[in-house]
Amino acid sequence: MKLFSCPLCESIIKRAQEKKIAQIVLHDLRDYASGKYRQVDDKPFGGGAGMVLKPEPLFKCITSLLKERRYDEIIYLSPQGVKFTQKKANRLSLAKNLMFICGHYKGVDQRVIDKFVTKEISIGDYVITGGETAAIVVIDAIVRLLPGVLGDSESALTD
Ligand code: SAM
Repeated sequence: MKLFSCPLCESIIKRAQEKKIAQIVLHDLRDYASGKYRQVDDKPFGGGAGMVLKPEPLFKCITSLLKERRYDEIIYLSPQGVKFTQKKANRLSLAKNLMFICGHYKGVDQRVIDKFVTKEISIGDYVITGGETAAIVVIDAIVRLLPGVLGDSESALTD
């Protein structure tokens, strides 16, 4: 049941972090937003229905993270992305640092994608409410492949 409230704090992902095999750091875009209401959404640049995550907080957040370390991939979770597979999980498990951008509303301002994103990944041909759920799926599939995370090292290969 607790998996529903904190998927990154339970089970194999929890153990991987406790063993310091993986470190997952969450960044709240509101911490990078300005104004009284720390608004992170705006109308899409160039028009269109609905709201998107506005570029300024994302630019600030990503730029400050890029000053701290190099990222092998900056991944935007998106229904338009390339379908996530075990093969892709295997490849991503070899990376040192990954950044995941989770969209909301109608997605993310296209200028952020054009400037920073190196891969767009979809978890399937359906639309969910926010990229966080998709990121959890992708992170779980990657973390369980890291050496030392599963008790039996063969286990991940035979699943
Ligand atoms: N039309 C929007 C688009 O194409 O991005 C749909 C937005 S959806 C309501 C909100 C966010 O959920 C997306 O920006 C994306 O981050 C995430 N999302 C939705 N479906 C997804 C999927 N199948 N795979 C990965 N991420 C998804």
